[in-house]
Amino acid sequence: MGSSVKQLAVLGSTGSIGQQTLEVVRALPHKFHIVGLAAGKNIDLLVKQINEFKPSFVYFHDKEAQAHLASTEYELLSLEEIARHPQVDTVVMATSGKSGLVPTLAAVKAGKKICLANKESLVMAGEIITNEAKLNAAQILPIDSEHSAIWQCLEGETQPAAQLILTASGGPFHGYSSAQLSGVTVKQALKHPSWQMGRKVTIDSATLMNKGLEVIEAHWLFNIPFEDIKVLIHPQSIIHSMVEFIDGSIKAQLSYPDMRLPIQYALSYPERLANPQLPRLDWSRINSLTFEQPDFDTFPCLKLAIAAGKKGRTYPAVLCAADEVAVELFLSQRIRFTDIVRLVEQALEEHQAVAHPALEEIMAADAWAGEKVMQLATRDNPC
Ligand code: MG
Repeated sequence: MGSSVKQLAVLGSTGSIGQQTLEVVRALPHKFHIVGLAAGKNIDLLVKQINEFKPSFVYFHDKEAQAHLASTEYELLSLEEIARHPQVDTVVMATSGKSGLVPTLAAVKAGKKICLANKESLVMAGEIITNEAKLNAAQILPIDSEHSAIWQCLEGETQPAAQLILTASGGPFHGYSSAQLSGVTVKQALKHPSWQMGRKVTIDSATLMNKGLEVIEAHWLFNIPFEDIKVLIHPQSIIHSMVEFIDGSIKAQLSYPDMRLPIQYALSYPERLANPQLPRLDWSRINSLTFEQPDFDTFPCLKLAIAAGKKGRTYPAVLCAADEVAVELFLSQRIRFTDIVRLVEQALEEHQAVAHPALEEIMAADAWAGEKVMQLATRDNPC
């Protein structure tokens, strides 16, 4: 195998981003080779992926189920062991939620290229991860479409950006009133107008929490103050984000909304690759691109997240953990859609924050916030 073939580990291979990563690898087999696969829940799909891609290392979250995966064809390793393995040069972090934090840190400390789809790790521990990345010459390459757009706009520039403009589709409830929002169902919330994504991020898109997390993610990835990061609603999801420079010039990145493009860009960087499977924009079918200011009052998660990002300390970790538990409660129909922001806000209010937290303090804040939300939700809806 030639040295130009990148050796990939995909953590979270059975999730939405993981599966789309494997589609890109399948389309470009001469460019990428899968050496590691890791999954949390879907063992049937993982077994199929193992048979197709023949990885050297495998991880499955459920220890009992792991026994069924025993094989002489590959080694069963932990997420961190795969993330820092010498045979792996690029780690795709596609796990959802806080489970991405520890393996991301392991990959960063091992100086890997990290194609990062997991935003929670940067939101929770942005200071630690970016410092460790510098120390160990690790490269963090964003997969999130907005951050990929900003990264592509910044390529070739020698001066810092004056302003980042993150676009947001507005989600399925764009234009709804607060009263309308309180009655929405899980099914309605899971119907995203423009993107195919996992359940957690789809609900976060509906509350606009996702955009708030992305603002914090952008702050750490591009080392830009929160004041210089704006959010703009753009329902067509054609412009994936923009960068404004000191002379007032603005660069935007546009494409058909398909996650495989930002995934492929992160994998192939600095090269661009032709992939006939990626859909192209058809300008004859685009009548207009529209923009609006976000409705901060109807979607308070956005301002809540940005405020937590600005306050820093362990607030972003609490934001992430509280949101993760609240979204889970909503998905299992134990709370209403509008309870998500209420529970997250209450957790943030009651939190005793720690400045410049170590990893253990971040994990403690995370555990505290999860329990807090469960407590508050049970108090409201005793069964
Ligand atoms: Mg995004």
